[in-house]
Amino acid sequence: MAKQRSRAPRNPSGKTGLSTPPAAPSAHLEIYDTTLRDGAQAEDVSFSADDKVMVAQRLDELGVQFIEGGWPGANPKDIEFFRMIKETPLKQATVVAFGSTRKASNPVQKDSNIQALLQAETKVITLFGKSWSLHVTDALGIPLNTNLELIADSVAHLRSKHRRVFYDAEHFFDGYKTNPEYALETIRRAVEAGAERVILCDTNGGTMPWEIKEICRVVQRECDVPLGIHAHNDCEMAVANSLVAIEMGVVQVQGTINGIGERCGNANLCSIIPNLQLKMKRPALGERLNRLKEVSGFVTEIANLMPNKHQPYVGDSAFAHKGGVHIHAVLKNPATYEHVVPSLVGNRQRMLVSDHAGRSGLLEKVEAYGIKLDKNHSKVQELMATLKERENEGYQFEGAEGSFELLMRKAMGTHKPSFQLLGFRVIVEKKQEDGNSGSEATVMVKVGEVVEQAAATGAGPADEGQRRVKRHPGTGRDRFTGRKR
Ligand SMILES: [Zn+2]
Repeated sequence: MAKQRSRAPRNPSGKTGLSTPPAAPSAHLEIYDTTLRDGAQAEDVSFSADDKVMVAQRLDELGVQFIEGGWPGANPKDIEFFRMIKETPLKQATVVAFGSTRKASNPVQKDSNIQALLQAETKVITLFGKSWSLHVTDALGIPLNTNLELIADSVAHLRSKHRRVFYDAEHFFDGYKTNPEYALETIRRAVEAGAERVILCDTNGGTMPWEIKEICRVVQRECDVPLGIHAHNDCEMAVANSLVAIEMGVVQVQGTINGIGERCGNANLCSIIPNLQLKMKRPALGERLNRLKEVSGFVTEIANLMPNKHQPYVGDSAFAHKGGVHIHAVLKNPATYEHVVPSLVGNRQRMLVSDHAGRSGLLEKVEAYGIKLDKNHSKVQELMATLKERENEGYQFEGAEGSFELLMRKAMGTHKPSFQLLGFRVIVEKKQEDGNSGSEATVMVKVGEVVEQAAATGAGPADEGQRRVKRHPGTGRDRFTGRKR
């Protein structure tokens, strides 16, 4: 367990004195999460209905106001999610169903997508429609006026069934750049029919922040209901575009945890939320901001993705220091190389052990294990030398704190082996050509005078699932229970 270091004082708000936040407008911001709908459209991501329910519960605990659960008209799995979530009590978040305006060939009452939206039985429905004339004529292949009718009567029908409607103006910015009058007319129709929010979507992710600013300024003037922003990240601008829109008065921001989503992803709520709260002084989650890293990790795991350690705010490297000069300065005052206090987002400062680190980093690390040493102590030099030698051989200790601790304790002469390895065996087998492969591992160790034997089975050649432990009689210790993935 790392020991608390004494640190130079720092402003707990996370402000380092360099950023000047704009004055906080009074409008309350709405965080709208679409991890389960747009995020699920990312390549390599597939959520089961159970996964979705678990993610929704975490998002609810985190404090997001709206959770877009899926598109029931396009995905049977999402119908199952909406059925399950009705049985799952959420503390504060509102679950939203997503779908498109009716097809031109269907009357609204008979449109299967609209029916599926109503059958999801959510209080809020986000309905998307076309704002870009190119999409109306070339993708839908219908006259521009017909599209306006689809928007109006789809929204009106959902309102007549007592649903709150958010209108997602798909490709709004591209549409506005091509034909501003038409793009504005699409959202006017949605508002007249009863939409209570208009979400401006940068669906292709190609809009620049200064364009967002200008277009939001115009739409604010023209639109009678509060606006939202839904940005994609194809130009790496999704977070910036979302923040600019909020600065222009937009009240709802849509995005996904870790920015997962189709192509290059959606606006990343794990960056937007701390930026809002810590840089723009706009309350978004309050103190629950410190759960952000945990939720980010949870979604990564459920989505079966590799964590991005360099992700701003919530990545493991976001507050990790490697360079000797940096470490030296951070030890004196963390604000020298950290823009906010890591714990505000649930992250932590890390000093990396490496041959770049120099002695301060090494001492810092050694101290974390409760060992006090002077920097000129011969053992420090010896440990530095061993570390450099091992790194030259290709070992890396940056992500292997346990290995570093062993190395350090051996160099200090304080290493006491906790157990003696008596042997291990790993078997991987497959019994049928089209069957699954399975693995079984056993290990036998001696702890003091007691021999411990443990076995585990798994689904493939490597699996961290189901562990079981067989103890020799009389030890009476508890069993490990497997962790469900
Ligand atoms: Zn989208």
